[in-house]
Amino acid sequence: MQRKTTQRQAIRDAFMAAGRPLGPEEVLKAAKKRGSTLGIATVYRAINALLAEAWLQAVRIPGEPARYELRELPHHHHFHCKRCGKVYDLKSCPGKLEALAPAGFIVQSHELTLTGLCADCA
Ligand SMILES: [Zn+2]
Ligand SMILES: [Zn+2]
Repeated sequence: MQRKTTQRQAIRDAFMAAGRPLGPEEVLKAAKKRGSTLGIATVYRAINALLAEAWLQAVRIPGEPARYELRELPHHHHFHCKRCGKVYDLKSCPGKLEALAPAGFIVQSHELTLTGLCADCA
């Protein structure tokens, strides 16, 4: 039980330290870098548990495996680097996207993902 708690905490720490959405392999790498000994199966189990607790939420990018981020984050958007595959948080939202919808339509939400090359890859 102690071991399980420690591993779960290492995974939480990895998400909090990253400051951007992470996929399971990235979580594993980050947790190992911090001295944690766990396997990919443990990471998947922990992510599922943290999703069930509503501590994490999935970030969906078309054609990509899901990444995960803290559920408590305020509304924001993402940048997906096509070369390294990392997903970054964008600070601002253009807002006022309702104007794009035809007259009479009610916009309830929007998703916006920028793609390209991150600073490390550009
Ligand atoms: Zn990149
Ligand atoms: Zn927005």
